[in-house]
Amino acid sequence: MKLKQDFFEQLDGFYQQVLPTPLPAPHWLLWSDDAAALIGLQQPNDELLQVFSGNQRHAEAQYYAQVYSGHQFGGYSPQLGDGRSIILGEAVGPHGSWDVALKGAGPTPFSRRGDGRAVTRSAVREFLVSEALAALNIPTTRALAVIGSELPVWRETLEKGATTVRLARSHIRFGHFEHSFYAFDGEQQTDRVKRLADFVITQHFPQFSCDRAGYKAWFTKVVQLTARLIAKWQAFGFAHGVMNTDNMSILGDSFDFGPFAFLDTFQENFICNHSDPDGRYAYGQQPGVGLWNLRCLAQALTPLLSSDDLVDGLRAYQPALVAEYVELMAGRLGFAPQLDDSHAMDFDLQLIGGFTQLLEQQRLDYTNTLRQFGAIAATENATALRDEFVDTHAFDGWWQHYCDRVGRVDDIGSWQQARRLASPKYILRNYQAQQATEQALAGDLSGLQTLQQLLQKPFDEQPELAHYAARPPQWGEGLIMSCSS
Ligand code: AMP
Ligand code: MG
Ligand code: MG
Repeated sequence: MKLKQDFFEQLDGFYQQVLPTPLPAPHWLLWSDDAAALIGLQQPNDELLQVFSGNQRHAEAQYYAQVYSGHQFGGYSPQLGDGRSIILGEAVGPHGSWDVALKGAGPTPFSRRGDGRAVTRSAVREFLVSEALAALNIPTTRALAVIGSELPVWRETLEKGATTVRLARSHIRFGHFEHSFYAFDGEQQTDRVKRLADFVITQHFPQFSCDRAGYKAWFTKVVQLTARLIAKWQAFGFAHGVMNTDNMSILGDSFDFGPFAFLDTFQENFICNHSDPDGRYAYGQQPGVGLWNLRCLAQALTPLLSSDDLVDGLRAYQPALVAEYVELMAGRLGFAPQLDDSHAMDFDLQLIGGFTQLLEQQRLDYTNTLRQFGAIAATENATALRDEFVDTHAFDGWWQHYCDRVGRVDDIGSWQQARRLASPKYILRNYQAQQATEQALAGDLSGLQTLQQLLQKPFDEQPELAHYAARPPQWGEGLIMSCSS
């Protein structure tokens, strides 16, 4: 693994150096070949195990924890920072450069009262969801590996400590900008916000210049990337669960996974986070929260841009989100969206909304029902699908509109094939992650490996694993996760 140190060398003052605390008796729990390929690694080996578990230093690594703050559940927390994640530097591979971070590597200057550790359950969940989102073509940080250990870690009960090796194109969050804006003032404030923005632009948006016009174009781009990310979450039924501004990546990648969940039955108000009884981060709230979070970022960019420029940038949010969402859902349902015609898009949004409303009323599984669209003969024979609906009358009403919209399909085979490429057969279901983790903690890794393999190819039929697509048993339906991780 070759490392460079751009963040470390260019952003002095944005981190503190700290070494990982070794994990005792480390062993590999999971390894992603796909993530490894991004940074030119092939096999796991003992040296990497020692490095990733903090038992051995990597010769080219700097070890540091970044400082940031953020709005958590609507309130400002002045100092967060990496409390349990230590970055080694940027690995350079055939697919660009990726920060390598050890999440759960022990205390840092930002740990506050935390122990700096992660438990196996949450490390495994982060791994599985990172790789599952990537396979769904949803921008995300990646997970290279999970290292298990015998370290006792106390949460609600006694658990075992683990470390996720996270790869991120960048770890810079909205909260990095907020920290520079709120913790400093005058020249220092402007200087810090500018250094951060210039770093992000130079590294990740080289098409823009580091001046007012460039900052404005860059901010607009961040707005659009965030909008598109959230449109994808909505289209695939993903609820992040903790959309605090410190969990929002400046590149529009899915970032920092805790109590996330994919929808089982469709439910607009689905809440996956036990610590969010009011549903601030409910599935259906995510588009609004994304904009709220971007306004926090905009506030922190006021040293660089006028409020008119920032408001202009924010205006790009809704059109980008709607266009991406309609495009994805039209792909899933099987009609051609007219993205340049806002009137037509409104009509499509209503058609899609009518469908999700039906699903919600009938308590149907979101992923499975959409997958069934790939198996029906375009608009002709809907019997199998119709049978899923208890209220067939309501279904028939919607179906009529739908058929009108789809129109004539000449080549049914390729229509069906396109649906299968737009609607996954498999998503990460929380109860399956839980079962596989329990099995792994009892010494049998096969369940985790199967899940990993399954979710690498979510659009493939994989008939021998078809039982993973079944609706969850009652105990596993809509599991609400605690934040403790
Ligand atoms: P999260 O909810 O995971 O996004 O974390 C919010 C903040 O709490 C971040 O600053 C984390 O680094 C910190 N944090 C979470 N868990 C721990 C822990 N076990 N030890 C230290 N800091 C933590
Ligand atoms: Mg980078
Ligand atoms: Mg976080």
